Amino acid sequence: MVDGEAIRSWLSLFATEVARNRDLLTQLDSAIGDADHGANLDRGTSAAVSAFGTADHSSPGSVLKTMGMTLVGTVGGASGPLYGTLFLRMAGCAGDAERLDAPAFAAALRAGLDGVVARGRAQAGDKTMYDALSPACDALDDALAAGRDIGDALSLATAAADAGRDATIPMLARKGRASYLGERSVGHQDPGATSAALLVAAAAQALS
Ligand code: ADP
Ligand code: MG
Ligand code: MG
Repeated sequence: MVDGEAIRSWLSLFATEVARNRDLLTQLDSAIGDADHGANLDRGTSAAVSAFGTADHSSPGSVLKTMGMTLVGTVGGASGPLYGTLFLRMAGCAGDAERLDAPAFAAALRAGLDGVVARGRAQAGDKTMYDALSPACDALDDALAAGRDIGDALSLATAAADAGRDATIPMLARKGRASYLGERSVGHQDPGATSAALLVAAAAQALS
């Protein structure tokens, strides 16, 4: 069962991984964007970790709400509203529940993905964070339906997110700044898919 403390561990680990990979995310975004994805996410996630220190973390929903609000409030780029929406939709799905079982966590993540789509209109193959998150949600659902425990299911979801991230390399960007480059976006790994894979990997580490 995933409680508020577990969600806080997950999102704190994500912040640590974003900080550790800040230069990589910046470098990827310098090839097909404006070189700020590392800085944007690091600013947002470290502000969220500070906010966790004082905010209510008695339920998954309250921690997810703090995360979403902080990202929306501190990250100017496309990724702020998109990740912010992901966590706010997860919070809405989690509601007031004190704990989420594995299917409820998977449903919340799926609701977050749906929020990203509602906000950014990305489809599979557009070379965005969607291309890592969507296969991860599918793998998580499939593994849980096959009777795997949450740890195994999140490991499979991580492998799917990593494969989805790698699959963005040959894609032509159709959303966000990278889309302005047209054919020149081909051959580069998407920064947002890269950070999204870090988010799923952090879940596998923190929630199993
Ligand atoms: P900005 O492009 O505004 O500088 P960031 O660099 O922080 O914002 O984030 C860029 C990432 O946001 C991209 O790599 C991509 O994965 C993601 N992104 C951009 N637009 C969309 C969209 N419409 N839907 C989903 N993800 C998107
Ligand atoms: Mg950018
Ligand atoms: Mg920017």
